[in-house]
Amino acid sequence: MYANYFLSKVQNYSQALENVGLAEKYLDGGRGKFIFTLFYFYSSLTELAVYFDKSEPEKTDILNRVAIHKEKIAYWANYAPANYQHKLNLVEAQRYRVLGEKSQAIEFYDLAIQGAKENKYIQDQALANELAAKFYLAWGKEKIARVYMQEAYDCYDAWGATAKTRQLEELYPHLLDAIEHSTHSKLLGDLNSYSSSARSDSLDLKTILQASQTISTPIEQEQLLSNLLQVVVENAGADRGCLLLKPKQQLERLAEWRNGVACIYEGDLPELSLFLPISLIYRVQRTLTATIVNNLQQEISALIADPYFKTHSPKSLLCLPILHQGNAIAFLYLENHLTIDAFTRDRLEVLHLLAAQAAISLHNAQLYQQLQNYSHTLEIEVSQRTADLQKANQKLHQLAMLDGLTGIGNRRRFDEYLQQEWRRLQREEKPLSLILCDVDFFKLYNDYYGHQAGDECLKQVAQAISRGIKRSSDFVARYGGEEFAIILPNTSIEGAIQISKAISEEVAQLQLPHVSSSVSCYVTLSLGIGSVIPTPESCPEILIATADRALYQAKTEGRNRYCCKIYENC
Ligand code: GH3
Ligand code: MG
Ligand code: MG
Repeated sequence: MYANYFLSKVQNYSQALENVGLAEKYLDGGRGKFIFTLFYFYSSLTELAVYFDKSEPEKTDILNRVAIHKEKIAYWANYAPANYQHKLNLVEAQRYRVLGEKSQAIEFYDLAIQGAKENKYIQDQALANELAAKFYLAWGKEKIARVYMQEAYDCYDAWGATAKTRQLEELYPHLLDAIEHSTHSKLLGDLNSYSSSARSDSLDLKTILQASQTISTPIEQEQLLSNLLQVVVENAGADRGCLLLKPKQQLERLAEWRNGVACIYEGDLPELSLFLPISLIYRVQRTLTATIVNNLQQEISALIADPYFKTHSPKSLLCLPILHQGNAIAFLYLENHLTIDAFTRDRLEVLHLLAAQAAISLHNAQLYQQLQNYSHTLEIEVSQRTADLQKANQKLHQLAMLDGLTGIGNRRRFDEYLQQEWRRLQREEKPLSLILCDVDFFKLYNDYYGHQAGDECLKQVAQAISRGIKRSSDFVARYGGEEFAIILPNTSIEGAIQISKAISEEVAQLQLPHVSSSVSCYVTLSLGIGSVIPTPESCPEILIATADRALYQAKTEGRNRYCCKIYENC
């Protein structure tokens, strides 16, 4: 803050003096810190700088105050000469200058310059040289002034005080003619030029590279936003910053950086006019160029009427569009509540460079976000489809086991189930029975009633047979054509006879007319029952053959009846 008085582009000493008064009020807050001692150094120099414009009594006051300040600096210089002796010498040089004691002044300027140089206080070395140059210039010794001014310029340049070197170039071009000027602040130019250009630019380049590194590393948008804001606010000299993301005409995100904390809003954004002057955003959106307002109080445009300024009074503001392929994808808004002229063109150029980097990083982050959203949706879709597929597979599996016409088990399922129960009952040595049913004179039925009626008849018979079985382990299948098979695990021949009777009864109850039948006026069944206790020596086919023989017997004995056979194991 103190140093700013001397870096002021306009050498505004009256403002500097006013600030000295203000700073003095809060000095106690800085006690014990290095900066506290700087107050006495810079305020002495400031007072001495305006000495010649003052009245005699004021001049006496200045000298008295400087004497008191000098005592303090001398006290510190006693303990830490490396930090304070050259400062004391510079104050002393300026004091001798105003008192007209030139030889003393010359000696102390050189002592100050030498001390600052030895102890690597490059800013003090610059200042001492500049003041010495001014001293010689006022004395009319331009040749000597030129040497000192040149060194002042070099030191400011090395320190990175670009504004100061520019000021010297403007004020003393005749003294600096011989200097080969370094390229300044061409931060948007070829990056390679920085390595060989002035040290101040190298410093800026380092900051930029570090900063752009920070904002290009985290791929996730939230992290990127807070990094970006932090870097930008810190580099721009702002005390608060907002970043508004506006990808497709829709305000999508708002990030705010204040007091070292980032807040990120998305989805339902809060009222924007509470965060920034919307009219400024519109202006920047329209012009696609950065706007700096360096003294809001003196701003005469319509901007001042923005509702935001009813409740907020920043002194300086800056708004920058972040462009990607010519479109504004975001807006950067910075403000400083304490200082006017907080945002310089130099800063703006650095910010532009950061913004270009940020635009790419933001764009990547957005793509990454989209990819994440997309893969999330895809994941949901895939799991949904997998579930659907599983259901469809189950259904297919069921269908593969069912007879298409009647809906009861098919021949494949019959074979599987018979094998399975055969093995189980073989282990348990329990009986397994099988009933084969055949519709009597079904060819004649078809011939008389037609094939469709025949199908309908088969469906009804299948349902009737299903009603005839009692246990869940009993299994009904269409064996083929107009033949059905019923597997009856754990069922002896007696049990199977019971079931056969029940089935015949169910079919009889259907009372399906069958005029061509010579055994009944209704549809009837012949049933063959086979029964066996499965053993390793026998096989399921034996049971089928036994039931088939029984069925053949029922047919030959006159139909509409059941016959049974037990397969006796040898
Ligand atoms: P039997 O009393 O000796 O069993 O005489 P049947 O006429 O029933 O025996 P046959 O084996 O001669 O004829 C069976 C008939 O069943 C022949 C075929 O047209 C008919 N059929 C087989 N499957 C179907 C089917 O899915 N639908 C229809 N409508 N008819 C079928
Ligand atoms: Mg048949
Ligand atoms: Mg038949």
